[in-house]
Formats: sequence, C-alpha cells, structure tokens
Amino acid sequence: MTRTFTGERLVVATHNQGKLEEIRELLSPYGLSVTSNADHGLPEPDETGTTFAENARIKAHAAVAATGLPALADDSGIEIDPLDGQPGVYTADWAETGSGRDFALAMGRAHAALIASGAAEPWRARFCCTLVLAWPDGHDEVFPGRVEGRFVWPMRGDQGHGYDPIFLPDGYDRTFGEMDRWAKNRISHRADAFARLIAGSFA
Ligand code: IMP
Repeated sequence: MTRTFTGERLVVATHNQGKLEEIRELLSPYGLSVTSNADHGLPEPDETGTTFAENARIKAHAAVAATGLPALADDSGIEIDPLDGQPGVYTADWAETGSGRDFALAMGRAHAALIASGAAEPWRARFCCTLVLAWPDGHDEVFPGRVEGRFVWPMRGDQGHGYDPIFLPDGYDRTFGEMDRWAKNRISHRADAFARLIAGSFA
C-alpha cells in the first residue's frame, strides 16, 4: 500500500529551475508550499548510486535530513539496449568535457559505441525517470517512469535538451528533438513517473 502525502510543505531536491517549475505546476492542485534545494541553500549530494532509484533516493533523503521536511527527487537518463543499458545513470557524465557539458558530443559517443558494437538497427532504447518521495521518518516511495523507442542517427531537431535529437519514441515519426515540449511532455518518461506519483501518493 503506497503512503499518501498529507503534508503542507514539500522540498523538491533539485537545483534545476526547469524541473522545479514543472513539478510546481504539476502539484499546484494540492495546495502545497513547494521549495527547492536552492531555497534552503543545500548542496547537491554526490550521485554514487548505480540505479536511477538509488540516486533519486540519495537526493531525496539528503534534502529530508537537511530540512526536516518531506522531499521529492528525480533521477533520469537513457538506456541503450545494444550498449547493455549504457549510458544509464551516467547519461550526464557522457556529456562532460571538463569545461561544461556537450550533448552533441555525448550523442556522437553513443553512436560511435553502437557502430563499434556491430549491433544491427533498430537500436532499442528508453528514457527513464525515477521519482522518490521521502518522509522525515525514513519512509520513501519509488515511482519509476519510462518511454520506449529507439536511438536514431543522425540527430534530428533542435527542440528540447540533452539526448532528445536521437530519440524516436515508439509510434511516432518525430524525434523528441522535433516535438514541441507539450507533445513531448505528454508521453515522456517524466510524465509517466509523475502520473504514477500522483496516482500513488496524491490521489
Ligand atoms: P539528471 O536526472 O538531472 O541526473 O540528468 C540525467 C541526464 O539525462 C540529463 O543530463 C540529460 O542529458 C538526460 N536526460 C534526462 N531526461 C531527458 C530528456 O527528457 N531528454 C533528453 N535528455 C534527457
């Protein structure tokens, strides 16, 4: 049985303004006071987990420990089947250059790895997003979301962020990079995880 959220205050354990606004909007019907890591002056903990759930748990529990309030955190990335699920939790790391993140470089790396693997197309892949809602008594609830599709090359579209230009969701002929954000946000891994969170803990 999933625990229902009955509090009035919630910390969203992110420094990403875009994520914060998206989450605020989603939770607006529930009359909560939503604050973020930045509001509380919290550092971002090291993401030392090997799964999306572990990393989201680390972020959620660190925010709970620092504030004494319930907290919500997410972790996300792309799994590419012929690469044995890589880059997975290391999705952002593949874009590191030493002087900031370069996602065109990261997508190029993934494509080079696919070619080197000799795997035949279609290259199955999925975006994953796991949300963790944690309470001050140590309890947490985990809500995994995903969207299935394939890695396509070359990159297509200039919408969105990260790996959007190489991801073609099943049932669509446009990549996430070619979709406007409303179309993408209806079917994304994040939308899937949020639907589960709302149904599980806010219904
Ligand atoms: P984190 O969840 O903030 O740790 O970020 C994981 C990484 O996954 C991001 O830096 C993005 O590169 C990638 N990612 C997560 N969600 C998306 C998405 O919706 N589109 C494209 N890339 C994404």
